[in-house]
Amino acid sequence: MQLHNLNLYILNIPGKAPVYPYRASLGETLGARPLIVEIAISDGIIGWGETARSSTAPSFWPKSRTELQALQEQITGLIEQTDLHDIEPITNRLWAAGLPHTLVAGVEMALWDLKGKAASLPLCHLLGGVHRRTIPLCACLGILPAEDSARVAEKYVEQGFTTMKLKAGRNAEQDLASVKAIRQAVGSAIELRIDANQAYSPLEALRLCRKLEEWDLQYFEQPCRQDMLSELARKRLATRVPIALNESCRTPLDMLRIARMDVADCVLPDTHLSGGIAQVKRIAAIAEAAGIPMAMHCGHDLGVKTAAVLHLVASSPGFRFASDTTVHSLPSDLLSEPLRIVGGSIELPAGPGLGVEVDRAQLERYQA
Ligand SMILES: [Mg+2]
Repeated sequence: MQLHNLNLYILNIPGKAPVYPYRASLGETLGARPLIVEIAISDGIIGWGETARSSTAPSFWPKSRTELQALQEQITGLIEQTDLHDIEPITNRLWAAGLPHTLVAGVEMALWDLKGKAASLPLCHLLGGVHRRTIPLCACLGILPAEDSARVAEKYVEQGFTTMKLKAGRNAEQDLASVKAIRQAVGSAIELRIDANQAYSPLEALRLCRKLEEWDLQYFEQPCRQDMLSELARKRLATRVPIALNESCRTPLDMLRIARMDVADCVLPDTHLSGGIAQVKRIAAIAEAAGIPMAMHCGHDLGVKTAAVLHLVASSPGFRFASDTTVHSLPSDLLSEPLRIVGGSIELPAGPGLGVEVDRAQLERYQA
């Protein structure tokens, strides 16, 4: 399997209200701005990858077409003499060349898509087989006034979602008011999780957790700074609110530390944070061995990355909680046959590789 050509695209797809503008403790996101990777091999098969800009990882993102072109040439040079079946050696070479996890993840995803298509097998078969075919989603929402959050929760319940995530971390009183308003509006019809993106000190987090205990959260994601594991371990023992870690869980080594310190009730890995599908599988193996359940994180993903998430969740029994998504609030998922959310879930695509195809007209239309 030899490289024919490789293209990178940066897209800009503005999201729809009320999910966008998506307010978090870190800032505001207006929509999806992914990087799409297209890799073609000589017999005409094309593999697609998608990766997201990470707001907390060391920053890399091409700022112009010229920079994008330079990256394209650098990656082409690093993989053109290689059998593209050799995904792990290629990934190691890209890391050794100093390319960031975020970018490597996009290339690696396209290589998995190619490998599956070349073998006529869905990706989940290459990743260990199918534990589940229907993948439940968690509909995400940014920070909004409490009453507005409650109205959106009602909509999500009507649409069939069984899990909802609310961003938090700008103001503890507002977080509490929103959780309360959602519970009062929809009762226990939805699992509810909040995500503070590292905003609180351990003491602030504990104080908030104590007040949240009566409102039955599925978990509180990343209340404190990503490196505060021992501080979190102490606070975790002092509250009944389950603690989930996302920014703290980027790599397999992070996962190993979390398991050793017994510091999380759930972890949320992601391909663009960890460096790819194989990295998430390594994290999953450690979490599964340690008995720590997982949920897939998302980064304003379109259909290519969402499909990769479906294959990861299908092939890893430890993903016991619904996968985060905002794709229901984007005007397009970039696919020629859009993924369909039915009853808050998506069915695992059946075709080879990721099982999805990119629509070229939309790829052109949304280029940044
Ligand atoms: Mg998070």
